Amino acid sequence: MDKADVVILGAGAAGLFCAGSLAGQGLRVVVLDHARDPGEKIRISGGGRCNFTNLGTTHQTFLSEVPRFCASALAGYRPEDFVALVDRAGIAWHEKAQGQLFCDGRATQIVRMLVDRMDGAELRLGVGVQGVTPGTPLRVETSAGPIEARHVVVATGGKSIPKMGATGIGYDIAQATGHRIVETRPGLVPLTFAQQDLRLSAPLSGVAVTARASLPAARAPRRAAVAFDDQLLFTHRGLSGPAILQISSYWQPGEELTLDLHPGDSAQALRQAKREGGRVQVATVLARMLPERLATAIVDEEGLEGARLADQSDARLDALARRIHDWRIRPVGTEGYRTAEVTVGGVDCRDLDARTMASRHVPGLHFIGEVVDVTGWLGGYNFQWAWASAHAAGRAVLGA
Ligand code: FAD
Repeated sequence: MDKADVVILGAGAAGLFCAGSLAGQGLRVVVLDHARDPGEKIRISGGGRCNFTNLGTTHQTFLSEVPRFCASALAGYRPEDFVALVDRAGIAWHEKAQGQLFCDGRATQIVRMLVDRMDGAELRLGVGVQGVTPGTPLRVETSAGPIEARHVVVATGGKSIPKMGATGIGYDIAQATGHRIVETRPGLVPLTFAQQDLRLSAPLSGVAVTARASLPAARAPRRAAVAFDDQLLFTHRGLSGPAILQISSYWQPGEELTLDLHPGDSAQALRQAKREGGRVQVATVLARMLPERLATAIVDEEGLEGARLADQSDARLDALARRIHDWRIRPVGTEGYRTAEVTVGGVDCRDLDARTMASRHVPGLHFIGEVVDVTGWLGGYNFQWAWASAHAAGRAVLGA
């Protein structure tokens, strides 16, 4: 029988980091992945430059049915700790908006750093994980035969981008061994519109505008009101861009989304402009607030081509202001796991120990990274969760 001290399932961000945390301790560590190369999602992340952490990480930048679950692991391994690792590896980086740290060069540098760090661990690629049988030791079924270990760390990620090797095996393992699953759905994903709503948006495909996307508080599932100010991008199927990706993780099918296409400006601005110089055309005023193609599309839709501001009643201007600041839209769906950056939901945190990521039901079994019901906002938070949860599990295994 093939044996190890620790078997890590998945050589993605969390699995590689966990293996690195166990290096040099005299343990036999085996990392299994069915892909041909490790860290494939890291390679394509952040547009190829890997947004590897966010300096503003707190438990409030994550979605979970147990909102404070991630706090302990995040406190045990902070963004600054990962930055120190990146600096030691000589990888140059820069800060974009809102504490987002990116590599100056290619994301593959991060993969190489993680693989170098797990020196001594055995990386077995091209091996499919099929299941885990509880017991002492635990037994992992794989396409290359079974392997036994005292500790098994499930780091098989979520369902997003199946083309890149994502499977639901982590959820299957969790369920088969007695853990609850918080219903999964695509997150950080573009939203799609019904045919009638595409009449305005599809011709605007490619137009970007700084907007506020918001959802009201909801009862089931329970959620506080949420809003994101960022770029919104019209697509031929609906909407994308950071503001939409962020709100998509909170959006529930059937819900109405509110969009403010010119946040920060009051709904009274059009009345004000009318008082200050009403001879100007409505289209000209809107083009000062919005990208020209978007302004023209709204003017056309409202039948205001060539119309002067002075000729519009205040009520008409208020209606136009609502069209800009309070656009209500009911998406029909998302682009799905094909393009989603993450999977919302996952292994129920109530079945895991927050300090060790250990199962409360199966001794020696741990779950880390995206497979857990902890989903970060856009901006480097998901990798920080992968590093922090992997670190917590690694420490627990070493201390066991
Ligand atoms: P993964 O990295 O997905 O690793 C899981 C591993 O398990 C994979 O290697 C997979 O091949 C393997 N596996 C799955 N099933 C099996 C099986 N049955 N047998 C064997 N192996 C299996 N987050 C950020 O913080 N910053 C970013 O810049 C960023 N950019 C992203 C860009 C894109 C396009 C995408 C899709 C995601 C991005 N993310 C980003 C999210 C981030 O990539 C994930 O949150 C993170 O990779 C999760 O780490 P993980 O180790 O849990 O899972």
